Amino acid sequence: MNSLEQLFTETGALKTGHFKLSSGRHGKRYFQCAQVLSHPKLAESLGAQIAALVPKADKPDIVVAPAMGGLIIGHETARALGLRSIFTERQDGRMTLRRGFTVARGQRCLIIEDVITTGKSTSEVVEVLRGLGAEIAGVGCIVLRAQTPPDFGAPLFPLAHWPAESWSENDCPACAAGEPLSKPGSREFKKEGTC
Ligand SMILES: [Zn+2]
Repeated sequence: MNSLEQLFTETGALKTGHFKLSSGRHGKRYFQCAQVLSHPKLAESLGAQIAALVPKADKPDIVVAPAMGGLIIGHETARALGLRSIFTERQDGRMTLRRGFTVARGQRCLIIEDVITTGKSTSEVVEVLRGLGAEIAGVGCIVLRAQTPPDFGAPLFPLAHWPAESWSENDCPACAAGEPLSKPGSREFKKEGTC
């Protein structure tokens, strides 16, 4: 177990067992980044670690993070880089910059997420920023859960690459071993991909 995995386990951000995921498939792990990020010192440290992955010669101008998941880690990464941190959010299902936030043409944006699974919401942020004429300096995250890293047309800076593994009920090794299944609905169970 590496130190990040240990940190996630100790803070309850990573649970191992036998879970029914929101997709209906079964998995052995689920993540809730909010648990680790609820500790300000740990959030600050994770932000600094992501910031350290960004090449100094290629420093971005601003951090942009999608709410809710990217808010805290975006802020902490920006703190380490000495940059502002702004966020996108959904309005009527569409990713958008609100609250007076904007980016300038040519401004180099570092997108920060907590977790990237399919990369869908990240791609929407990329689209919003490029639509405003900004450039994407890179995309950072705490955990990359995609088997194959998504292509955002910009460098990707994940702290950890933990590809998500899941099985159908018929193929599930934990089911075959007779391990009891934790079902959604328990208070701490959140969909896989929350982190
Ligand atoms: Zn199972």
